[in-house]
Amino acid sequence: MVIILRPDATPEQRRAVESRLRELGFQIVLAPDPPPVVMAAVGEGSMPPLEQMRAMPGVAEARRIPEPFKLASRTFREADSIVRVGNVEIGGPTVVLMAGPCTIESEEQMVRTAAAVRSAGATVMRGGAFKPRTSPYSFQGLGEEGLKLIRRVADSQGLLVISEIMDKSQITLMDRYVDIFQVGARNMQNYPLLRELGSVERPVLIKRGLAATVDEWLMSAEYVISGGNDRVIVCERGVRAYETYTRNTLDLNAVAVAKAISHLPVIVDPSHAVGVRDKVAPLARAAIAAGADGLLVEVHYAPEQAICDGQQSLYPEQFRVLAGQIRLIAEAVGRRL
Ligand code: PEP
Ligand code: MN
Repeated sequence: MVIILRPDATPEQRRAVESRLRELGFQIVLAPDPPPVVMAAVGEGSMPPLEQMRAMPGVAEARRIPEPFKLASRTFREADSIVRVGNVEIGGPTVVLMAGPCTIESEEQMVRTAAAVRSAGATVMRGGAFKPRTSPYSFQGLGEEGLKLIRRVADSQGLLVISEIMDKSQITLMDRYVDIFQVGARNMQNYPLLRELGSVERPVLIKRGLAATVDEWLMSAEYVISGGNDRVIVCERGVRAYETYTRNTLDLNAVAVAKAISHLPVIVDPSHAVGVRDKVAPLARAAIAAGADGLLVEVHYAPEQAICDGQQSLYPEQFRVLAGQIRLIAEAVGRRL
C-alpha cells in the first residue's frame, strides 16, 4: 500500500499514520522525493480497508500496490528515479554511455580503450576483474590488480567505473575501486549478494537473467531497494531463445515494459544480447529509440586480441560512429547525449 500525505499534514498526523501502519504489521519506507511525503507500507502486514486509511487526518491518498515489486514500482514512485553518481545522472534526460572491454587485461589495453571511449562521449568505463566464465578453464579475471588498473585509468580520463561483483565476499574489496556494482545475468538471483548490496552506498546495476521474466528481474531490484539502497539500475542484456545466428535475443519488449511499470533507470547491453560485432550498433540504436536510459557496450582497442568477447567488442572507430548516431536518436526521442 502507498500512502500520500497532504502537503499540510502535521508531524502528529504523520506519526499517527505511521503508528497505525506499524500496528498492522507493516514496515514503512519513505520515497526519497521532495514533499508531499509518500510512504510505502511493505511486508506481511494485514491490509486495512483503504477507506480507513484515507479517512485518517493528513492523508491525501491511499492505494494498493498491485505489483509484487513494491518499491521498484511506479505505483510507489510515479516519476523516473535518477541515480546520481559523480557528475553523471542515470535515468535523467541525458542518455548515458558505459563502455570498455569485457575484461581488464593490461595497462595498454585499458589506457587505449579508455581514451577512445571517453573521446566518443562515454562517461562510465566498464571492465570485469572477476569474470563469470562458462568454463572453469577460461581466464577468470585479474582480481584486485585489475580493479586498481581500471580505477587509475578511469580517473586519468575523468571516467566513472562499473565492474562486476560475483559474490558478497567481494563487496569490501570492490567498494574501494568501483563507482557502480554490476550484478551479472548469472547472479541476478544470488539473493545473499543482493541482500548485502542493499546496505552499500554505491549504485547497483542488475542485469536481467538469461531466462528471467520482467517480474523476476524487478524482484531482484526489490531485494536491493528493500535492503535500504534505492540507487538501483536494471539492464536488459538479451535472453536465451532458439536463434543460433546470434548469442542471445535482445528483448526490447522488456525495456518498454520495465519503463512503464517501474521508475528505475533501464540500460541496454547490446553486446551480450547479440554477440556479433556488426550487429551491436543497430541494436544499440534501437534500444535508445525504445526508451532505454543508456547503453553498456563492449569496446576494445584491438578486439582481435581480446582475451574475452572480442567477437562482439566494437573497434573504437565503430563506437565513435555509434555515439554520433545515438546523439541524433536521443534528440529525436526528447533526450540528449
Ligand atoms: C559482462 O558484462 O561482461 C557479462 C558477463 O555480462 P552478462 O552478465 O550479461 O553475461
Ligand atoms: Mn563480456
